[in-house]
Amino acid sequence: MTESLLIKPFRTPARGVAQIPGSKSITNRALILAALAEGETLLTGALFSRDTKILIQSLRTLGFKILDDEVAGTIRVQGMAGNIPAKEGSLHVGNAGTAARFLTAFLALSHQGKYAMDGDVAMRARPMSGLLNSLASSQTFAYTAEGKPAQAFPFILQTSGQLKDLTVDASASSQLLSALLMVLPLRAGASVKMSGETVSEPFVVMTEKMCAQFGRPLSRDTQGRWFCPNPGAYLSPKIYPIEPDATAASYFIALPAVTGKDACVRLQGYQPQGLQGDTAFAEVAKQYGADIRFEGDSAIVHSWSDLRGGDFDFNQFSDTFLTLATLAPLANKPTVIRQIAHTRKQETDRLLAMATELNRLGVKVEPSPEALQADTSLSSLTIYPSREALLKTAKKGPTSIHTYEDHRMAMSFGILGSYDLLGDGTPWIKIEDPSCTGKTFPRFFEALEALRSRFVTIAIDGGAASGKSSTARAVAQHLGLMHVDTGAHYRTLTVGLLKANALPTNIASVEKALAQFKLGSALRGFSSHCLLNGKIASEAEIRSPEVNAMVSAFAALPVVRNYILNYQRSQVELAQASGFAGLIMEGRDIGSVVLPQATLRIFLEADAEARRLRRSSEGQSDSIVQRDLLDSTRTAAPLICPQGAVRIDNTKLSLAEVVQEIEGLIAPALHVS
Ligand code: C5P
Repeated sequence: MTESLLIKPFRTPARGVAQIPGSKSITNRALILAALAEGETLLTGALFSRDTKILIQSLRTLGFKILDDEVAGTIRVQGMAGNIPAKEGSLHVGNAGTAARFLTAFLALSHQGKYAMDGDVAMRARPMSGLLNSLASSQTFAYTAEGKPAQAFPFILQTSGQLKDLTVDASASSQLLSALLMVLPLRAGASVKMSGETVSEPFVVMTEKMCAQFGRPLSRDTQGRWFCPNPGAYLSPKIYPIEPDATAASYFIALPAVTGKDACVRLQGYQPQGLQGDTAFAEVAKQYGADIRFEGDSAIVHSWSDLRGGDFDFNQFSDTFLTLATLAPLANKPTVIRQIAHTRKQETDRLLAMATELNRLGVKVEPSPEALQADTSLSSLTIYPSREALLKTAKKGPTSIHTYEDHRMAMSFGILGSYDLLGDGTPWIKIEDPSCTGKTFPRFFEALEALRSRFVTIAIDGGAASGKSSTARAVAQHLGLMHVDTGAHYRTLTVGLLKANALPTNIASVEKALAQFKLGSALRGFSSHCLLNGKIASEAEIRSPEVNAMVSAFAALPVVRNYILNYQRSQVELAQASGFAGLIMEGRDIGSVVLPQATLRIFLEADAEARRLRRSSEGQSDSIVQRDLLDSTRTAAPLICPQGAVRIDNTKLSLAEVVQEIEGLIAPALHVS
């Protein structure tokens, strides 16, 4: 019996920042390009999943030095400028299509190498022949244990190190072509042409763009042959940030469709114009009724207005067809999903798998699973919505969904199961083998759970250099909260007041200057920054010695505090409207004056010596003792540990320990049970 997971329907609107991992396609391409580059490349925001770990491990087996840090999401790759250290080796690619294809073409660069290659049972059935036949024309041969030419895994790859004018049949998978494109620049005079068409053109475009990002742009001649006009080893970009996975994002675009009114999910770093073709799903979702707004570098998804069936061609972003297919049973009319024949040869026969499992829930599909089984050339699916049919099945108890070792089956049915079909929170979908999401999204079900949250506010107060900012920033990132540093508010006002020649001893001069100010907010990552007359004051400006010397004197004035109070309180609405799971605000009077009703109030402290050391290690000349004295002795909103606040002394604690303590305190309030 495989383990299974009962999906708990959402009884409250989904809210918060979806914790989306880095893109698998980009991570695995970047690993290959970085390995072929000269010098070291640091990949940030990388995905750590089964498929990327397989590629990392394989590259290590081949003699590459790779340092990975899963917590930080970074991979440091030592490029070998096109050389492959190991001339022999045994590689197992699991069921990772990218690793399988990319490594095979990569190894063809090895002069007189011999490599034993194998994959899982499912991988042995996946297309490789287009690539193997193409390489054979450049004297790199794959053969079976019996010495016959091999067309699929397992095989022994005898490599020549040469690449000439190649022709590839990439009709079964665009990865067959992408694999060759990435090695082209390493051999002067090499070129690739397709013998027919390929599927998923956007992935080819992604490969082309990434070759260019690593310093070796490709060109196409009039016959459509790719070549590298300026061949050589790739040039390391030094640091290469990986975009969040657009296919994974599709589940969180879909979630607000099934979790009632007032849902608001933020997709941090999700951009419509990135490298990934699957961002096109956002357009389809909009046609279907999604409310998606792009703000800054991110997207915010609110509850969908409708679920409008229709006719959609998913050829170019077929990994996301499963996401729409599992919403289709709830739509207002049938949904047709076209041009997905190639998905029948992916992790599983996805079209058949989807039809079979929807059928199991009582949903009518055409062609039927039997017809799909009989005819492997069928390439589209029509899904007929019927809430009654779903209810009829659900009333018999939860349906167990087979996932066929396909991560996307597990994730898309996880979203459908989040819908409160029975209206009382009773689970109606069970996902078999939920850990199959490990292929691209190991923590998918945790990320889903994290959005079952209610809006929380955390107030952190404490003296200068008590660790408020670093703590608040880390908690904000972990829990998907918006961070506000109110010290920066007072500093920004001080910059403006000093420019206006106002003096704390002359209240009229302060009032006059304040009357000229207009405040606003701008989001940068997880932090909301204060705009003074449309501008964010720079870090250098707000932390200058002049500002350090004057800020507490201005902050002690009731006229200044009253001026900023409503602005600070309005940050709660901004956090809500921007899809954050809550707000974390730090300062001196947050728990006592600004947000006395905060869900959690913390008072951070550390002994004077520890704080002095922290500030001097930041290279700041700042008389924190003097500021603390002024802040805690003023009459207006003095720095105090508010009643009922949790006192944390972090003198001897690491940042991670403090963050963990705060997260432990807020967890019960954050999650709706
Ligand atoms: O947090 P930071 O050290 O940047 O704050 C600078 C100054 O702003 C503090 O010393 C204090 O005088 C003032 N401040 C305040 N109330 C807050 C935050 C900061 O009075 N909530």
